[in-house]
Formats: sequence, structure tokens, C-alpha cells
Amino acid sequence: MATKKKNISELRQDLVSGDWVVIALARGKRPHAFAVGAKPKKQEAPISQCPFEVLSERKEKPFVRYDYRQGGHSTGWSVVAVPNKFPAFSKAPCNSFSKEGPYTLADGVGSHEVFILRDHKRYIPDLDAEEMINLVRAYRERYRSLEHEKCVAYVLVFHNHGREAGASLPHPHSQLIAMPVIPPDVSRSLRGSERFFHEHGTCVHCEMIQYELRVKKRIIDENERFVAFTPFASKVAFEVRISPKIHQPNFGMLEDGDLALAAKMLQKQLTRLRNGLNDPAYNFFIHTAPDSEKHGHYHWHIEILPKTSIWAGFEMGTGIEISAIAPEDAAAFLRKVKTI
Ligand SMILES: [Zn+2]
Ligand SMILES: [Zn+2]
Repeated sequence: MATKKKNISELRQDLVSGDWVVIALARGKRPHAFAVGAKPKKQEAPISQCPFEVLSERKEKPFVRYDYRQGGHSTGWSVVAVPNKFPAFSKAPCNSFSKEGPYTLADGVGSHEVFILRDHKRYIPDLDAEEMINLVRAYRERYRSLEHEKCVAYVLVFHNHGREAGASLPHPHSQLIAMPVIPPDVSRSLRGSERFFHEHGTCVHCEMIQYELRVKKRIIDENERFVAFTPFASKVAFEVRISPKIHQPNFGMLEDGDLALAAKMLQKQLTRLRNGLNDPAYNFFIHTAPDSEKHGHYHWHIEILPKTSIWAGFEMGTGIEISAIAPEDAAAFLRKVKTI
């Protein structure tokens, strides 16, 4: 029997690993649409076809809109958050999990939003301080307003830069997905930090940060409140992690007074990648405790993963990634890259 097409995606749990996957039937692809080999490589769409240029024609009111206040180079909006037109998770009545034989599944209830930066060709390293603060503030505001919603278990903020990193449109934008389960990677790191806390009585992230600040081998940058470093066990070449220096479990706890320092720290590291590695594609995302009381042992952070290699048989078969540069050498290189 063919699978019935639904308007909402479906979450299915792997019976062995417990990991979740999303089957986005709502995107309505027919099997032959997956025959990508036969298709010519898509060219980057011109600005005249950019859906983010005609934002004013969209009927819905943005969830947030931040304008230029300082009247520097521009006026009007600098960033808006709007619903994603092709959501992986969408608003629907909160439902519980159901069963098919031994398997567990659920509707993809939640939300999927896009943060759109105003200019088609001005990327994060090009933003001025106010625009950058507006972007991080927009992440935080949408995060805060969705994290406690009924049937939302986790809210992920992420950004794809470059086609190889999955950015389907060249216009700079970030995304947010609120979902009804805690995703596998986050569950694993929540469990790991909880275990460390029980064994050592401290936060594993605070422990790492303090050690890194002491030995300085993998530190790329720091300011009063944040530190950027290459993780000891970096998953990919030039992986960068940004963490608050004080223990803070949840991204929503980021205070107004720290917005500018967080924004600057993020922008500087993305500028280092662009200037030092000739504008590589990358993804970054925010990992946070879904519940700061239950997961007080966790410590939110931003992970930046340049797309320097693709997962091949070994990586797929083992989950182990091979990085072709030592994190210490990557940090030494990035530290020297000019950010202005
Ligand atoms: Zn555009
Ligand atoms: Zn901590």
C-alpha cells in the first residue's frame, strides 16, 4: 500500500537506537524527483527570483521585526522572523505518540521559522554591530517564546551558509525549528553532561572552558563573557565552539547586557572562517538545555561546523568523523586571521 500523503511531517523512532527521523511527506516529492544524477547542476537563482525580496507581499505579520535604530547606513527593518513556507514541523493540535506494530511515531507538530536578513548579498561578516545584535536578539526572542509552548520539547536555532551546507537560497537567513521530541544529538550530550555532573559534581562544559583558558592551545578568541575555541575532539576540521564563560544552561538566559558580546563573538569567528578559508560553506547551531531546572548541569553553546568534507562510507558506518587538521593547529591558524 502506498503511503498516504499527509500535510504534516511524521516523526519515526528507530526501534534499536531510539533516534528520531522526520519523514517530510508534506514536501510531496515523487520517487523520480530523487534521481538527482540526471539533473543539470542548479545555478544560483538571481536576485529577481529571491522570495525574500518580496517579503512585504507576504500576508502574515512577522513574529519579530527589528529595525535600525541608530540610523547608520540604513533605515527600516534589519531582520524579521517569519514562518517557513516549507515547514519540516508545523502547527497542529498537540497529539501523543502512536504505534505501528513495535514502532513509535508522532506527527511533526511544532514550528519552523526563518530569520531573514534584509540584504541579499550582505552576509553575517558584513553586518554592522547593530544588525548583528538584532539577529542574535531575534534568535533569543523566538527561542524564549517557543521553548515553553505545549508539546514543544526542543527549539533549535541554526544557520546554513553556502550550497554545500544546505543553504537552498543565497539570501542570508537563519532558521528555527520547535519540535515535540529532544533530538538524538542533544539527548546524547544532555546524558553525557548529566553523567559528568554526577561523577565530578561540576559542569562538564565549565570544566572544559576553564582548562582551555588555562592551556590556551585551542583558544581562538575571548571577551569578557564568551570564549571561542576548537574542541579537543573536533568533529570536523576547523570546528569552532562558542560558550558563555559563566555557567548558563539555557540560551534563553542570555541577558540583554551580553547580547552585544555574544553577537560580536559569533560574527568574528564567522569572519575568520571567511577570511582565512576563502568563504567555506558552514552550518552553525545553538545547543541548549531544553529545561534549565531539569538540565541545570548543561551549558548552552554555539557550534560552527565548516563543510570541509563529506560523510562517506567510514563516517556513515561508524559515526566517527575524520578531521584532517589537529584542533590545536586549526586554532593557531584561525587566531591569526584578521577579522576587520
Ligand atoms: Zn534576496
Ligand atoms: Zn557550565
